[in-house]
Amino acid sequence: MATDTLIDRRIAAPAAAQPRRVFVIDDDDVMLLTCRRTLEKDGYDVETFQNGLDGIRRIEQLQPQLLLVDLKMPELDGLQVIERVRKVDPDVVIAVITGYATISTAVEAMKAGAYDFLPKPFTPDELRLIVNRGHERWRLATESARLRREKEEAERRFVTFVSHQLKTPVVAAKQYLDVLLYTSASELTPRTQEWLKRAQARLDEMLTLIGDWLELARIERGIDSIGEPLMTSDLRKVISDVIDASQAHAQSAVVTLETDLAADVGPVRGDVVSLATVVSNLISNGIKYNRVGGRVTVRTRLEGGMAVVEVGDTGIGIAEESLPRLFQEFCRVKNDQTRDIPGTGLGLAICKRIVATLGGSIGVRSHVGEGSTFVVQIPTAART
Ligand code: ADP
Repeated sequence: MATDTLIDRRIAAPAAAQPRRVFVIDDDDVMLLTCRRTLEKDGYDVETFQNGLDGIRRIEQLQPQLLLVDLKMPELDGLQVIERVRKVDPDVVIAVITGYATISTAVEAMKAGAYDFLPKPFTPDELRLIVNRGHERWRLATESARLRREKEEAERRFVTFVSHQLKTPVVAAKQYLDVLLYTSASELTPRTQEWLKRAQARLDEMLTLIGDWLELARIERGIDSIGEPLMTSDLRKVISDVIDASQAHAQSAVVTLETDLAADVGPVRGDVVSLATVVSNLISNGIKYNRVGGRVTVRTRLEGGMAVVEVGDTGIGIAEESLPRLFQEFCRVKNDQTRDIPGTGLGLAICKRIVATLGGSIGVRSHVGEGSTFVVQIPTAART
């Protein structure tokens, strides 16, 4: 039975509305009778089994909130029962009953997934304590799973809202401006044309922000296949393609793009889109925060089983005090040189998330007035 279905079914009904169901598996029928009497008096719905296999079968059908299982039984012992129960129902709270309570058996049972421990012989109050505590734990776990689902659903709705309700009208407004500028240019004064172009540029900034924000949300929710162990890509090709695609940007900024790509790096972990996003963000920043006539150099090398990509520039550099928060969302270094450079402050945060998902790292060295070098480490396919 799929775990999701179990959780869904449990979350579907409010915890208070569900019968408080306890299963007890023990080969000792006196023990079973004692448990049943004590717990039924407290309003629990109790089912007892002398045999582990019968209990497991019934757990699949009924999903009790709580299972009490004896560790020492002739056929399947308690640890084996716990192991199998965990496979059919990872959410049931398990407490073990044992007549030979030692630290090592307790540790073993906890490792196998038990939550609590009830040494024999026990009084009805001791039994109640364990069962009530277990039930409370189940209630809290169910409640937090429900809240987690609600949060994910709210995030999903928000992403949909942003993409449709916000992006669509911005794209439409931009298209109207396009039409106005290119079909009615002769009727517009140069001043009006200038204003319309500025309005277009602001809409472009907004679209970039929405795009970056959606990208970040996608990475966070794990929608992309980033980091799938079998997904590897040719880093050299990814970098060459991004360099080609960045030439127009570089030329308009009068910046030269250079590469020094080691032949021995080979394929690296990650899909082409994610790797290209990282390289492209870094190259784009290298161009944006450069000076006229400057350079952006992309180098690769192999170091301890990791591919190292360095994107260096001859630009404005970053003050030391800004470095620690550079990879945080919406961080933009504000000074006279950056004031008019458009950006969202999300590019480096996206790079960091992608690289971390791939099992790598990203860092930066910088000197104000001399330039910056962003250093990315990504596991090679050989390490995967
Ligand atoms: P943005 O969209 O603002 O460029 P990023 O997350 O890519 O967002 O970068 C965050 C901030 O880090 C930038 O606003 C800029 O101040 C600084 N920065 C990033 N790359 C460079 C660079 N190569 N040279 C100088 N400053 C940089």
